[in-house]
Amino acid sequence: MVDSSRKNLTLQGIAASPGIAIGKAYLFLQDDLSVIEKRLIEPDEVGTEISRFKHAVEKARQHLHEIIQELPDEFRVHAYILDSHIMLLKDRMLYDGTIEQIEQKNVNAEWALKIAVQKIKAIFKEIPNRYYRERASDVVHVSKLIFENLLGAESPKISDIDKRGIIVAHDLSPAETTQIQLEKVKAFVTDLGGQTSHTAIIARSLEIPAVLGIGNATRQIETNDLIIVDGSTGAVILDPDEETLAQYHDRKDLFEKFHASVTRISHLPAETTDGHRLTVSANIELFEEVASVIDHGADGIGLYRTEFLYVNRPILPSEEELFNNYREVAEIMGPREVTIRTLDIGGDKFASGLPLAEEMNPALGLRAIRFCLQSPEIFQTQIRAILRASAFGNIRIMFPMISQVEELVSAKRLLDEVAESLDREGIPFKHDLEVGAMIEVPSAVIMADVLAREVDFFSIGTNDLIQYSLAIDRINKHVAGLYQPLHPAMLRMIRRVVEAAKEADIEVSLCGEMAGDPANLPVLLGLELDSLSMNPVSIPVIKNLLRKLSFSESKLFLEEALKQPTTADVLKLIQLNYGKSFEEVTFAARPIP
Ligand code: PEP
Ligand code: MG
Repeated sequence: MVDSSRKNLTLQGIAASPGIAIGKAYLFLQDDLSVIEKRLIEPDEVGTEISRFKHAVEKARQHLHEIIQELPDEFRVHAYILDSHIMLLKDRMLYDGTIEQIEQKNVNAEWALKIAVQKIKAIFKEIPNRYYRERASDVVHVSKLIFENLLGAESPKISDIDKRGIIVAHDLSPAETTQIQLEKVKAFVTDLGGQTSHTAIIARSLEIPAVLGIGNATRQIETNDLIIVDGSTGAVILDPDEETLAQYHDRKDLFEKFHASVTRISHLPAETTDGHRLTVSANIELFEEVASVIDHGADGIGLYRTEFLYVNRPILPSEEELFNNYREVAEIMGPREVTIRTLDIGGDKFASGLPLAEEMNPALGLRAIRFCLQSPEIFQTQIRAILRASAFGNIRIMFPMISQVEELVSAKRLLDEVAESLDREGIPFKHDLEVGAMIEVPSAVIMADVLAREVDFFSIGTNDLIQYSLAIDRINKHVAGLYQPLHPAMLRMIRRVVEAAKEADIEVSLCGEMAGDPANLPVLLGLELDSLSMNPVSIPVIKNLLRKLSFSESKLFLEEALKQPTTADVLKLIQLNYGKSFEEVTFAARPIP
């Protein structure tokens, strides 16, 4: 039991999946694989050691394959992650790297694998983008399976947990997470992992509260401890007293009622009190998020970030692999629109199979459309896959980081060439495929009237537009306070883009993170955007709030907001005019004081 000095002790982690769970902890202890011993081998043992390693990899592949075959329905959509783990088993750095260690250092396979994994982790640690940095955990999960086979260790099975409780583990791999008996799990708590780890993605899609990345949860919590998990704030409270328990029971009720009420109506149209309709779509990075897009009532996919299939792997994806992926997304979405953004790699986005040079200033370097135009073969392959998939659903294509009209012209020329070759080959595709440009660089804002003549729609990427306009690195925590979506400069820029789009009679959408924050909604509504695209889980809350706002009032409100000299003044004005509407929304995420 927890000793009395730890009554109400709060462990702070990352709020990875919202919701509150109160219950007994179940500590899922995994084997400690850190005590791997180095053994020098004779030159004539090298061949045997390599075979042992290859055999262990093959066993791991079979194990993952069996899990995929036997996945219960609710996890089927996540099979994709396990497929990527099968591919990772043959990753150049992991697979060839281990064999090289055995050959060159004459060491046992376990040690060679350990060194290869350490090297990969060191490389990943340097990646600024959180999402890609966290992919190091995939390498660790995959290597753990190989280690177990090499050592002949029989790891405890998560599927054997037969008590209903809150699972506390050092780390959970996708293979483990997908074998959990769902009806037995109230929440997840882990030492490692973050917002974009696969455990977090799976937990969110299953709507199980999760707090990850606590660091020392498995050392502080014991099986049968009573704990509270608040997946909305990232707090885990040990041995709560009566008062805290009562507070959290109330909070749990409120959260569940609010969540149920907004989710129940999330399939209704996003229509204001005075009858103005907005399209509310979802941003996704992974195929497995499509289920959550539909569950949360999205009108479509406003941004499919396609980098994932290029990341963390030794070879580039084939046209067939891309085509199958896009086609499946489009087919599941049916008549709903799917906007596929072409590869936005470079900058803070990393891909091991691509020939990216080191750059002093990567955010201003060879990224996105610039990289693609300089690598026409990679670009053509993706465009062919998108065009072919367009025969199977309501697909649109969108080019990222356009900073001058020539880029759009070149990208469209390439698109035409690919279309002509598909026609020659008799391969069907949508001939009137809509083409869009992301507006995320100040020059594109200024030239929006010219760019508008070249495309069918704009999508404003405020994550980058803020970075490039306010000169604030989007991932630098030292200047995070200056990264202000409601900066008056941003409002004026968005307004300018919307005006240019309206003038040219094309659609204009906004797909940066700011779209999913309820506090920004009155301003975005007043800006007269046609659609907003956001993280799927934000959709029910945004739609719910939108249905309480008046479009005509928001336009008047915007005129006032545009007169404000500072972000603080804009925020004050929002609070003054809309504070009441936000009370219920913000409660769900507000920490207990
Ligand atoms: C953006 O820049 O706002 C955007 C949506 O794209 P990403 O975050 O992928 O750069
Ligand atoms: Mg961007």
